[in-house]
Amino acid sequence: MDEKNKKLIISLILTAIFLPLAIIGGYFYFFQKENTEESVKEQPLVKTASKFEVFPVRLEDFLRPPKMYGLWPYGMRGNSADSHNEGHPGWDFELKKGSKVYAVADLLIQQIHSGDHQEGDQEIMVIEANAELNNEGFHITYHSVINIEPSVVEGAKVKAGEPLAEAGYPLSENSVMIHFGVFPPNDSIGSCPADYFSDSLKDTINQIVANSLDIKTGKPYESVCVGKIDKELYYKNYPENIKYLGGAEQFE
Ligand SMILES: [Zn+2]
Repeated sequence: MDEKNKKLIISLILTAIFLPLAIIGGYFYFFQKENTEESVKEQPLVKTASKFEVFPVRLEDFLRPPKMYGLWPYGMRGNSADSHNEGHPGWDFELKKGSKVYAVADLLIQQIHSGDHQEGDQEIMVIEANAELNNEGFHITYHSVINIEPSVVEGAKVKAGEPLAEAGYPLSENSVMIHFGVFPPNDSIGSCPADYFSDSLKDTINQIVANSLDIKTGKPYESVCVGKIDKELYYKNYPENIKYLGGAEQFE
């Protein structure tokens, strides 16, 4: 065997050894890279669902009959700029003192901050959270809570149905209020929450409405959502909020 052939055979042997290694190595490198990128891209913050399967409050926690209103519906106009004359952007539930509020879905707690109204010596708080419906982020707000559960802190993940806190805004001697709001993607003023709850909760919602009391008429409200938010009044009441408005607001 001459020197030239010897070199050729050695380089063939080396190629036979290293080429498959390079192919296998390359395959694993790109495969794993792709996998990592995919898991970063598609991993939702919390488990996604198609509807909220848990109601934020329990039927047995409502006073029967209510002291004030039981339920103040979404969209219902108040009498002044201080009480949503533009339309109420969520639901107010009047509950027995000490009643808890619950995670409507798997939640990521985003922010816990002070509420606007403070009464007495107990600070009233707001829990802001993210939920995923059909792989889209929904913003959920529980306004006016007290005695927040120790595990409910900013950044925590809470399972659907777990208690978050107690309803906290005092309405009467034996009733407290919690405001619950749902903000679908690109909606900065809040939508009728009823559309996002599972059909199995329709009966609960109907019973809450039947037990509600319209202060003006003395009769129950017709629905959990009555009308929409008035755009002009909203702009007048919240000029600062206009810059945060997205494209899917529930205005009329
Ligand atoms: Zn409210």
